[in-house]
Amino acid sequence: MIAHEVGHHVQNELGISSQVRKLEQEDPDAGKGEDGLSVRLELQADCLAGIWAHSRYERGQADPTKRLEDGDIDEALDAAEAVGDDSIQKASTGRVNPEGFTHGSAKQRKKWFKVGYDSGDSDKCDTFSADPL
Ligand SMILES: [Zn+2]
Repeated sequence: MIAHEVGHHVQNELGISSQVRKLEQEDPDAGKGEDGLSVRLELQADCLAGIWAHSRYERGQADPTKRLEDGDIDEALDAAEAVGDDSIQKASTGRVNPEGFTHGSAKQRKKWFKVGYDSGDSDKCDTFSADPL
């Protein structure tokens, strides 16, 4: 989850977050819903978190003190799943309402973390043109 916040930091540095905010101001509806800009921004942060984990893993090959342990990635994936909008909605209201999604579903969050982790390539994290998400 810290890696997810690092992902947001990268988005801020690259000006992606401010572009999204601008688009949302121009067209508030574009920001909302299960394939809205907010969800796309959050899933991109998950993908960037995966890239961080990927580079941690590679550094770990050279320096055992930095090595990720077996199960760390599974833990990260479980965490991504637990904070999916559908998981959270279900736990709090017993229902799932995709209109109210802001971060993406459990399946999507897991998917995008894995895209980043498996590829280590930020070009693959283009959640804004991905279809389906
Ligand atoms: Zn976030």
